[in-house]
Amino acid sequence: MPTPCRKKTVRRILAVAWFPMLLFAWGCGNGGPSPASDGRPVAVVSFTILEDLARQVAGERVAIRVLAPVGAEVHEWELSPRNFIDLDRAELVFINGRNLEQWVPQLKATLGSEVPVVALAEDSRHETLRIRLGDLAGDPDPHLWMDPRRAADYAEILRDHFTRLDPAGEAYFRDNATAYTERLEAVHAEIGEILAAIPEDRRLLVTSEAAFLYFADAYGFHHEGIWGSNSEEEGTPRQMARVIDLIHERQPAAIFWESTITDRYVRGISEETGIPIAGPLFVDSLGGPGSGAESYLDLMRTNARTIAESLTNGEP
Ligand SMILES: [Zn+2]
Repeated sequence: MPTPCRKKTVRRILAVAWFPMLLFAWGCGNGGPSPASDGRPVAVVSFTILEDLARQVAGERVAIRVLAPVGAEVHEWELSPRNFIDLDRAELVFINGRNLEQWVPQLKATLGSEVPVVALAEDSRHETLRIRLGDLAGDPDPHLWMDPRRAADYAEILRDHFTRLDPAGEAYFRDNATAYTERLEAVHAEIGEILAAIPEDRRLLVTSEAAFLYFADAYGFHHEGIWGSNSEEEGTPRQMARVIDLIHERQPAAIFWESTITDRYVRGISEETGIPIAGPLFVDSLGGPGSGAESYLDLMRTNARTIAESLTNGEP
C-alpha cells in the first residue's frame, strides 16, 4: 500500500522525467498539444472549478487553460508538460489561494514576474472560515467556492481582472458576470429547497476531507471529516478512530466519499460502523461526462440531491 510520501516521490520523479520530453517538443517547434488561442489573450486557472467560473465571465474574449484537469487532486498537483506550455503563453493566472494549491511556489518559479497571479479566495470580501481539524487547524479554509454566494465574489474578481487585461471587453465581461451571478443566486435558493427535506437531527455531513465547511455554514449542517485538509496526512489510525466514535454516537443515515479521493477510508469506517456510504460528492474538481457535475452549478445541485437523498433514506 503506497504511503502518501511515496506517492509524492513517484510523482516528482515523473515530473522530472517529463521535462526533457517537453524540451524535445519545443525543439521540434510543434508548439505543444494545446489548441491555438486564435490571437485571444490566454488566462490560466489552477483547477476545473475556476475554469468553469472563468469561462462564464470571459466568454469568447479570453482563452482559458486549466492546470489540474477534471478528477485531479488539486492540493498536491504537479505541473505537467502541457501546463508548462500553457503557462508560457499566459498573460494572467488565477489560483484559489489560501494554500489550496500546495504547488504555488513551483508555479511562480515557472512564470515570469510580469505575469499577475490572482488568488481569488484571498480577494473575496466574505469572511474566511478556519480549518477545524488536524495539523492545519486554525488556518483559513480554502474551499470558499462551496457557497455559491462566495463563488459570486470570484465572478466579480474575474470580471475586474479580465477587464484590466482586455479593456475593450468591459461591458461584455460585466454583462456575463451579472448574468452568472443571477444564476448563482438562483442555484443557492434551489439548493436550500432541496436540502429542506432533511430534518434538523439528520444534518450531520461526514466526508473524507472536511472540505464542506462553507457549504455546511450556508445550509445549516454540522460537518465532520476524517481529516481536515488533503494537504495533510490522510487516514491515520487516530483520524479513523475519532470518526468511528463520532458515528457510533451520532448514527447518521450515510457517510460520503469525494470524487478526487479514494473511498477506502470511508468504506473502512462503513464496515466498522454499519453506516452505508454514499457519493461521490464533488468539491475539489468538476466531474467527468455523465457525472452530473460537469459544471459548477450542476456540481452544487448534484451534491445537494445526493446529500438529501442519502440523509433522508429517500423519504420525502
Ligand atoms: Zn480540498
